[in-house]
Amino acid sequence: MKGLYIHIPFCRSKCPYCDFYSLRYNEDFSKRYCGALIDEIKSGGRTRDFTKNTDFEFDTVYFGGGTPSIIGGDNISEILKAVKSCYKITADAEITAECNPSSVSFDFFRKAAEAGVNRISLGMQSAVDRERKALGRIADKEKVKEAIKNSKDNGITNISLDIMLGVPNQTIKSLDETIDFCIESGVTHISAYMLTIEENTPFYKLQKKLPLPKEEETCEMYLHTIDKLKENGIFQYEISNFAKPSFESRHNLKYWNDKEYLGLGPSAHSFIGGRRFYFSSDTEAFVNGGKAVFEDFGGDEKEYLMLRLRLTAGVDISKFKEKFGKDFPLKLKKKAILFKDKGLLNINDNNISLTPKGFLVSNIIISELLSY
Ligand code: SF4
Repeated sequence: MKGLYIHIPFCRSKCPYCDFYSLRYNEDFSKRYCGALIDEIKSGGRTRDFTKNTDFEFDTVYFGGGTPSIIGGDNISEILKAVKSCYKITADAEITAECNPSSVSFDFFRKAAEAGVNRISLGMQSAVDRERKALGRIADKEKVKEAIKNSKDNGITNISLDIMLGVPNQTIKSLDETIDFCIESGVTHISAYMLTIEENTPFYKLQKKLPLPKEEETCEMYLHTIDKLKENGIFQYEISNFAKPSFESRHNLKYWNDKEYLGLGPSAHSFIGGRRFYFSSDTEAFVNGGKAVFEDFGGDEKEYLMLRLRLTAGVDISKFKEKFGKDFPLKLKKKAILFKDKGLLNINDNNISLTPKGFLVSNIIISELLSY
């Protein structure tokens, strides 16, 4: 079963730390964009070179951004109507929309729920208003509370909150306020990302002046988040993702499990039939009929290992043998033992996975393990 990703590249304004591709929202252009998306959903023409046919069945649909909620419930509904008329969508499909608390009303959730959205991912970042403000977020904590209530009142109870670690002025104490807020809100899922200062962002220019926590403090925050959420029945399942049992993001798990997905919209990536392809980060080009371009062949053993090592479940050695018809690389196992001795990896006869401390340096460990 495949996943469908639909990219909405608009935001109300640009957050000072963000280097994702997005444009300032403009109602007329957004309407043209939604029209182009719907045309593509109906024709499947721009990915046809790679997909051969579009007789797909999806069990997840994910509106990501940007800020999908900014286009409003009617547009989400029109897009989903087109999706349902052109593809098979399983009866129990997970249908997620990323939302910004500043662009959602009761009416938005009513329309989204009627259209079939059954999961939302809310960009809260912090429950502490001064931290949200430093991140350029307009909505305050009360607005976040209101968004959660409106979502639940419309029957969308599967809710994920994004939070950030290592933001200006954050301390373990203030992080606790955010984590307590998540727990008390009764949400099912949390994504916790460490702030990284990217080039070409206002934060990059300002970084020397920003009151950022020290790197060791941010690492401590990460480990504290894992422990505290676990004590409260919300378990880590991926480097940055935590869920109550059975509420892991089915869509995002497709990426880490090397499953197939179709991505529509500028900067959206796809993996189908062993091929990776994408649309360039150019909304105007997409609106004007720009086609998907080939990226690479995917799904080889190193890619599989790299993705699986992001998960707390790690790599199942017998499943690896079954999938690739060969023995698990002995050299990788030997390297893994060295990391185990440092408390960065768990190894048993049939499984290798990173520990929470290992996740803090996952890039280094994964690249070392894969250089076999
Ligand atoms: S809302 Fe999200 S995508 Fe848009 S600018 Fe802010 S961080 Fe970036």
